[in-house]
Amino acid sequence: MSTRSGTSTAQPPGRTAGRSGPPPRRRTRLRTVVVALAAGTALIAGLVFAARTVLREHGGDGDGAARPSGGVFVTAKSSGAVIGEGGRPRRFKVQVEKGTDVDPERAAAEISAILADRRGWTRDGRHSFRLVSGDPSDFQVKIATPATVDRICGEAGLDTHGEVNCDAGTQIMVNLKRWNTGSPEFSGPIGGYRALIINHEVGHRIGHGHEGCPGKGKRAPVMMQQIYGLKGCVANEWPYNARGRYIGGPAVP
Ligand SMILES: [Zn+2]
Repeated sequence: MSTRSGTSTAQPPGRTAGRSGPPPRRRTRLRTVVVALAAGTALIAGLVFAARTVLREHGGDGDGAARPSGGVFVTAKSSGAVIGEGGRPRRFKVQVEKGTDVDPERAAAEISAILADRRGWTRDGRHSFRLVSGDPSDFQVKIATPATVDRICGEAGLDTHGEVNCDAGTQIMVNLKRWNTGSPEFSGPIGGYRALIINHEVGHRIGHGHEGCPGKGKRAPVMMQQIYGLKGCVANEWPYNARGRYIGGPAVP
């Protein structure tokens, strides 16, 4: 009896169902399939969640508390020689938010070349930099979506309104929109605008404040907020001219 009843429940339902199709059995089987599918889906969802958690915690920027709450960053793996002659090189990491299609290694090479340029901050012989791929670092150049830039800059009390970059703590937050498309106030090639971004924000890191236009037709200081209008100046992305003279302007309070 128990065998029969056992057989009847365990019997492949197709045979019985195909012939007479007793509704209760079909429902039982359906429920079983639904439950199995739900369990499978839950298992897969759980695995995906676990994998994402691992990625967030170990694939992030490694800065611990400085890790952004939303964006996941990939750090450029290359490290470089000291750029410039200054006594203690500032170590910097280049990090790109995942999903932005910016190659971290190429960005790191581009940023290093900007810092190594003879018209760059190293020209004064006092400042030097070195690309590093891990901790410790003195500052981090992070290329991120406007939303992530706004969030991280906002946490530092700065309003970047989806448009501009900022210098937040030890983080240089570069708005992906500016990195990729430049600025309406800058007519040169995108590489020139990227130099302006890096030179302006690194200028803050080494202690420079904002400067204004020194006069009509003159070159705009790199520390001028050129994106908000040139005020009669000509766009310029370098702190020094080819002869090594600082391109400055009146300090902006
Ligand atoms: Zn600034």
